[in-house]
Amino acid sequence: MLRDTDRDLQKGLIMRLPPVYPAPADAAQRRARPAVVCYPVETLPQPDMGWLERARETMGKIDEVIVPPREGRSFSVPEAHFFRITSVEGPQVGDLNLWNAEDLSERFFSGKTRALHATHVSTGMRLWSNLPHLRPLATITRDTLDWYGFDADGGGVHDVIGTRCDPYTHRLLSGGEYHHCCHSNLSRALSQATGMPVREAEMHVHDVLNVFMCTGFTRDTSQYFMKASPVRPGDFIEFFAEIGLLSALSACPGGDCSATHSSDAAACYPLKVEIFRPANEFVSGWKAPTRSAYSRAHGA
Ligand SMILES: [Zn+2]
Repeated sequence: MLRDTDRDLQKGLIMRLPPVYPAPADAAQRRARPAVVCYPVETLPQPDMGWLERARETMGKIDEVIVPPREGRSFSVPEAHFFRITSVEGPQVGDLNLWNAEDLSERFFSGKTRALHATHVSTGMRLWSNLPHLRPLATITRDTLDWYGFDADGGGVHDVIGTRCDPYTHRLLSGGEYHHCCHSNLSRALSQATGMPVREAEMHVHDVLNVFMCTGFTRDTSQYFMKASPVRPGDFIEFFAEIGLLSALSACPGGDCSATHSSDAAACYPLKVEIFRPANEFVSGWKAPTRSAYSRAHGA
């Protein structure tokens, strides 16, 4: 016999069924235990922001790539160079992938970056690589939206909680084929950069940094939400490449992600990527972080 709430769940009217089991007598005590930040901040290796500031004062632009709306483009950033993603023409969200330029199996690890830093990243935080490498791929050196912080809904900017819009989830929830989701845009961009067939390139596409995207979790049901990005033309986020990077950026079909994505409905704008080289002393003096020294013995 189905409860009314079971039917509501089936109809998609609610996400989570009311509990079947009664709360124990000490439920309030159990809930009141203090929250402890999972990873100690004190032992996380910190970037030398003073050195980075001195390096950026000497930098000059060496390349520029425009990512058209609802498209993806790749770009390379040599070790110890900077790259900057700028909003142009209108508010637009970007989905960023990063790989070690020498070894595509080392790539950005959104989940661990979130666990080490926060759900949303800003200046001084780093984008870490996947296991077994676990080293910083890039450090954020400027973020013109750093003033935003967290709003009354719990929303923040530059999210490492979302994944990337993709045609499989679109098919699951809405049916049909849509080829300009960020997942597909990134797959085509990597395919063009490497010469790999698009289905092979797709296997290297990973969870993104959602540049300029404003997201959070609803207070009552902890569901992932998005709201209109506060980005305006001229806003940018800038990174220092700790190692040589191959990157891809998609100008999300959701535009400012105020209402929809995975369709041609939203107003979309290009994104500008610029690459900067600091003075030779900073490039030649840079020591790239090494891969994790863990033995990989795993107790076997
Ligand atoms: Zn997208």
